[in-house]
Amino acid sequence: MKSVGMLIVCLSVACTFATGAAANTVKITPLGSHDGEFCNNDRAMVFEDPTGVRLVYDVGASVAGATDPRLGDVHVMLLSHAHGDHIGQNKAAGPNAGTCARPDTVTAGLATNTGEITAAKNSAIMLGNDMAALIAKKVEVIRGSAIVNCAESGLSRDTVVPLQAPCRADVQLGGKRTFKMAGQSKGVQVTTVYAEHSNNIRRPMLAESARVPLVADDLAAYVGHANGYILVFSNGLRVYLSGDTSIMGEMKTIIGDFYKPQLTVLNLGATTMPSEEAAYAANTLLRSAAVIPSHANEAATEGGKLKAGSRTEEFVKLVKGRKVHLPLSGRTMEFDGKGKCMAGC
Ligand SMILES: [Zn+2]
Repeated sequence: MKSVGMLIVCLSVACTFATGAAANTVKITPLGSHDGEFCNNDRAMVFEDPTGVRLVYDVGASVAGATDPRLGDVHVMLLSHAHGDHIGQNKAAGPNAGTCARPDTVTAGLATNTGEITAAKNSAIMLGNDMAALIAKKVEVIRGSAIVNCAESGLSRDTVVPLQAPCRADVQLGGKRTFKMAGQSKGVQVTTVYAEHSNNIRRPMLAESARVPLVADDLAAYVGHANGYILVFSNGLRVYLSGDTSIMGEMKTIIGDFYKPQLTVLNLGATTMPSEEAAYAANTLLRSAAVIPSHANEAATEGGKLKAGSRTEEFVKLVKGRKVHLPLSGRTMEFDGKGKCMAGC
């Protein structure tokens, strides 16, 4: 009995230690279409600061609208650009609907998945100005009331969350905002950074008066710059979200040398950043301690394991000298202030 008692004590000490070690971590949870996999539509992620601030990035079509139970509180909405696979022209038809290669979706209507979730969750809209105007208008239509600028204070432009209603927290490229829980001295600082990518919204997501004049020439409506983000969390972790972009010199200079991210979420893709370029960006330009590939536009895993011959596998093989963590849907990864994964990887 004595040894059993000791075992229980040891287990509880180990448990306490483990809880203590994980207390100051940033939690990152991919919200993909299929539990435990990295699938064709996957790019959505939830970031949770140790203080409790929660940000959602590029909900896309793998989140089933505002009622998706995986979302929880969304204090801040981030969107890299307005293409349908990021803003969410469609939303998930339900948990694990369809296959990993071809998930089932339904239309998100004029609201878009981003607009629907922002309206329902009372989120701050932390986007480039032109996109923020677009999303704010969609949220106004849903809620039937005007969306005002977020209350802010101080040089770091602090906004206290949770909010009572959605609000605009827009910036131009390079602008910063900070989001803090009430009573906390620290929070999450968010900066937009350059992304080399087009940024238009397709006609099915536009009101009729805007849509009709664009039909004859097959145009979409431009909505300002695409962007990436730098997130600086209260434990010191700096994360670069690339958004869709080609490989570019800013990854070395502004992002790598100045912001020095310890963790990068890097969007792969045959039309934007193929594996060879993405690996060069990770290894030589950005140089963060860890990389999470995203936006691979394929069923990259089966049973949670990388599929042979996939684009993601090709990328992983080319990355040297740093960790690569797969964004398996629903698996929460925890990172310390230096980009080291402490749990869930
Ligand atoms: Zn995309």
